[in-house]
Amino acid sequence: MVQFAPFFINFRALHIYNMHEMKLESVGVLINLQPLGERDSVARIFTADFGVLCGLLRGAQVARKNKPLVGQVGAVSWNARLDSQLGVFHWDAEKNLAASLMMRYKPLEYMNSAFALLATLLPEREQYQKLYNDTLILLQNLMCDSCDDVYLNWEISLLRELGYALNLLSCSGCGTHDNLEYLSPRTGRAVCSNCATPYIDKLYKLPLNLDVTCRFLERACMTQGVDLPSVRKMLVRGVK
Ligand SMILES: [Zn+2]
Repeated sequence: MVQFAPFFINFRALHIYNMHEMKLESVGVLINLQPLGERDSVARIFTADFGVLCGLLRGAQVARKNKPLVGQVGAVSWNARLDSQLGVFHWDAEKNLAASLMMRYKPLEYMNSAFALLATLLPEREQYQKLYNDTLILLQNLMCDSCDDVYLNWEISLLRELGYALNLLSCSGCGTHDNLEYLSPRTGRAVCSNCATPYIDKLYKLPLNLDVTCRFLERACMTQGVDLPSVRKMLVRGVK
């Protein structure tokens, strides 16, 4: 049974035809495609207004024109009967932000990791407007020289939405801005070398990098009872 959370819904883009059917319209990024049978696919689209939507894309595997591809940005409408398990998408791709990444190994790995994390960790039909904007920024900047930092910043943004707001500006123990060498796994806040001494085995070593964010992501996954996506597990810290 599909359950809807009306308080998250932007009513400008919501149409309820009758008591049994509804339609959501937004813009979004196609983040996941799984084949279903020989012609169709089940898609996940991260939308600006409704967060992650899951639904059927009819004919996605056999489309010759306008074939749906992961990384496309476009206009989406999602129709669902309230008593059915899966909605149905109409997908109108405007641009493929992944096209320029396809020949580059590392940016592509980062994109795949980000999409897998979104598909795994975000609940469906809950709006994440800032993370949506940050995801577009990620896709637009993965080809630049600092793609490691771009991706790390995106993960910090994801962690904030998941309830792990990292604060590296001052020591959580004494407030100093100096010698911030550790991070508390419990509070997500920096700890100076003095305050860290009694707890050093329990703290993460700064600087913040993908090994550290990975440990927070593992905790978020554990809380939700899901596995960290394998593409994220394989992501190693970039060699500059
Ligand atoms: Zn301190």
